[in-house]
Amino acid sequence: MSTVMITGGSRGIGAAAVKRFSDAGHRVFFLYQSNDYAAQSVAAATGATPIRADVSCKDEVVSAFERCGRIDILVCNAGISRIGLMSMMDEDDWDRIFDVNVKGMYHCINAAMPGFLEKQSGSIVTVSSMWGQIGGSCETPYSATKGAVISMTKALAKELGPSGIRVNCVAPGVILTDMCADLDEATLSQLREETPIGRNGTPEDVAEAIEFLANAAFITGQVLGVNGGLVI
Ligand code: NAP
Repeated sequence: MSTVMITGGSRGIGAAAVKRFSDAGHRVFFLYQSNDYAAQSVAAATGATPIRADVSCKDEVVSAFERCGRIDILVCNAGISRIGLMSMMDEDDWDRIFDVNVKGMYHCINAAMPGFLEKQSGSIVTVSSMWGQIGGSCETPYSATKGAVISMTKALAKELGPSGIRVNCVAPGVILTDMCADLDEATLSQLREETPIGRNGTPEDVAEAIEFLANAAFITGQVLGVNGGLVI
């Protein structure tokens, strides 16, 4: 049994990952930002332990990780998006998305690091996006943060491999969660048509890939697209 920490575990992809690791018999903690109701629902359904902490806040992350003890697997999933023309994006929005999507990973990985180094073992899975691979129009800051997640993953895999720590990344495509709630049916339908597998993705599709990478002993520094073939 491993101890697993999943950020953003109260909804969407993170909640599916909480369920998957819990079903596999692991001890699971998850962070969430503010949605107590969603967090308690996931906790009741899975037996996992929710901890309210904003990943962009170092103090909150450090005290959350202190409650968990040493962890074996860290899934850095918490993320937000901002949609609109970059020229219309105000500086606070720009800063916030980088604080959550990039600095949040820095805080969480650093909080897990002492335990990983002590044991000379650990597994980190980061969650990027297909837009981090190819860029998304009207999602420039989001794409930039998700590109940064891919670079972080590769750099850290090189840095931490000699210490027995693997770092891998999933890059989801269109996944039906609250993050996609603003997409109308016509858009989702068009995206389905452009997807070789012929459907939109589910949180469970991504959770399966996260679990695979978390456990794959000879894989590090890799980016696994979970997009039905939309981006190849
Ligand atoms: P979601 O349904 O909107 O859920 C986001 C989760 O992150 C929630 O648990 C939320 O907590 C948590 N969260 C947000 N900001 C946080 C913060 N500052 N500190 C702690 N937790 C925070 O999103 P999702 O679609 O599952 O996305 C999960 C990840 O996949 C994100 O990194 C996203 O960029 C990536 N992704 C998603 C898609 C997609 O199509 N859905 C595609 C590619 C990549 P609360 O419930 O408390 O708000």
